[in-house]
Amino acid sequence: MGLFSKTIRTLGPWGGYQLARQICRNQPRILMYHRFSDPPVKGWASPHFFEQQVRHIKDNYNPFSLVGLMQYKREHGRMPSHAVVITVDDGYRDFYQYAYPILKKYQVPSTLFVTTGFIERKLWLWPDKITWLLSQVDYIQEAVTIDALRSEAGPVNAETRQVYWQQWNDHALSLPDDEKHWFIDELARQLGKAIPEAIPPEFEPLSWDELAEMQQNGVEIGGHTVTHPSLGRVSQSQAKVEIVGCSNALNENLGRRSRTFCYPNGQPSDFQYFLPALVEDSGFLGAVTAFPDANGTKDPFLMRRHVSGDDMFQFFKATSGVELLGHRLRRDIRLRRDFFLGTTDIASPGVNA
Ligand SMILES: [Zn+2]
Repeated sequence: MGLFSKTIRTLGPWGGYQLARQICRNQPRILMYHRFSDPPVKGWASPHFFEQQVRHIKDNYNPFSLVGLMQYKREHGRMPSHAVVITVDDGYRDFYQYAYPILKKYQVPSTLFVTTGFIERKLWLWPDKITWLLSQVDYIQEAVTIDALRSEAGPVNAETRQVYWQQWNDHALSLPDDEKHWFIDELARQLGKAIPEAIPPEFEPLSWDELAEMQQNGVEIGGHTVTHPSLGRVSQSQAKVEIVGCSNALNENLGRRSRTFCYPNGQPSDFQYFLPALVEDSGFLGAVTAFPDANGTKDPFLMRRHVSGDDMFQFFKATSGVELLGHRLRRDIRLRRDFFLGTTDIASPGVNA
């Protein structure tokens, strides 16, 4: 743990969070969730902690859906004060089971970004295929070799599963979209498994009916492409098919209305310079990344998000603005160092302001 985190862990409960909340009152914080489960699963959110978080946001902040936030900004020419946005990615059924009842109970708005091909059950999300493959084998008999990738043979257990997953996921993300699908099929072949056509229950998507019901009750249904590719690895025309196709599917199934967009995977390498304009021209009012930095919500088509889940320390750090202030502090130190040393440091090409 860095010195900054240590200081915050100590000072947070003694007024540090309140101070950050005050300093950052005009800079909305956007929280990012993915999956929900009961009993809890590491890295996911469980209803027990999520309810505490929703209540805390309701009692201490001004909760908005992302499209609500963008509409407020358009109307008033500025962001609302003490705004916090809950966003959830992908469109898994567990949102309806565990998160939606809590959001409805407290009347807290939120934004759910859905991959429309997944909702239509035309595909299952490719990282889930890697997860599924690793759930089917308890020993990798022979080293996996595909192009430059080499994964050693060995047992698949709680410890090594994550290592294999990361290695294969990173390799898939480095490939152009069509090669990525070939890679996953080849992975399955080398592991001696056939990936089923139908989505297994643990990776099931929501239905259009469920989405329509939630849209009636404070959940903005935003866009997250048709097939969830890294938009950093597709041609401009392919990106357009993904973004416009997603927007059309949402409008056809849920009625035409203003929405926001979320870039799949959302890291700096998942971007290309033309994407923000493409997203805006497709009718979306704003868009989010999957990482935080000093820029916060400055660019409406590249708004930064903060990770959230069952870790209450991370939740308070993200919600109060402490995490944002930490990034600002680090940026200021870097700028000063560059000024004195005459160097420049481009940390996230393409999305660095
Ligand atoms: Zn996603």
